[in-house]
Amino acid sequence: MPEAPADTEARRAVAPVRVYPGPPPEAPRLTLGEPIETIRVPPRDARAIRVPAGHVLRILSVEGPQVGDLNLFAAGDLSERFFSGKTRALHGTHVTTGDALWSCLPYLRPMAQIVGDSLDWYGTDAWGCRVHDVIGTRCDPYTAKLLSGVDYHRCCHSNLTRALSEATGLPPLEAETHVHDVLNVFMCTGFDPEGRYIMKASPVRPGDHLDLLARIDLLAVLSTCPGGDCSAGHSSDDAPCHPLEMQVLTAEGELPAPPAPSAYDRSHGL
Ligand SMILES: [Zn+2]
Repeated sequence: MPEAPADTEARRAVAPVRVYPGPPPEAPRLTLGEPIETIRVPPRDARAIRVPAGHVLRILSVEGPQVGDLNLFAAGDLSERFFSGKTRALHGTHVTTGDALWSCLPYLRPMAQIVGDSLDWYGTDAWGCRVHDVIGTRCDPYTAKLLSGVDYHRCCHSNLTRALSEATGLPPLEAETHVHDVLNVFMCTGFDPEGRYIMKASPVRPGDHLDLLARIDLLAVLSTCPGGDCSAGHSSDDAPCHPLEMQVLTAEGELPAPPAPSAYDRSHGL
């Protein structure tokens, strides 16, 4: 290890600033109607659903604790998809009511906004863990192969690939290229003191839900992670797993207008 400089403590003592300052986002006040469509996602599998702008996608826990891995696309344009990294930079490692889910460049607009989170009460626990992270990527068979040597076919990446292929008609290997880093719905995660990614049993129970207001027409794809409540591991058939439901609800009230894509002129200094 290189020798620390003489002003080590002075450098460490510099106070940080927020990378993207701003007031906490507020959710619009909405009255939600009954589900107009419901899809049940079986354990260790995925399903897709279309959510028109101005409707709410409810992800609902049923039967038992289960984590869901969510991909979002602009309906009809797979090139505009959820940007977990920028969502993390703008809102934090975990998202809750008021936070937006942003789309990738060059669009960079709020695809959805969280308007309800029954696990809002969880806050931050003694390990620094919180719920609904935009840290993890999604469990995938390539990392599983790397670490265990096993070919496992029910990772969220593969589940999302199959469901997206079925929803769009794309060949599976082409659909796979559109699968992206997820919102880890109901997952309880943080970092240990050495900065390593940690997870623990999700506090989610049947009846808990996360409500996303679609700001644009969406294609949502949800995988029920083979890790179940993600208390021990994933990428295997070891954990007890449960279904999740996706419901599309009508919404009335302070509905914001659909956002336009970023107004940046894309000249990039050329
Ligand atoms: Zn997973």
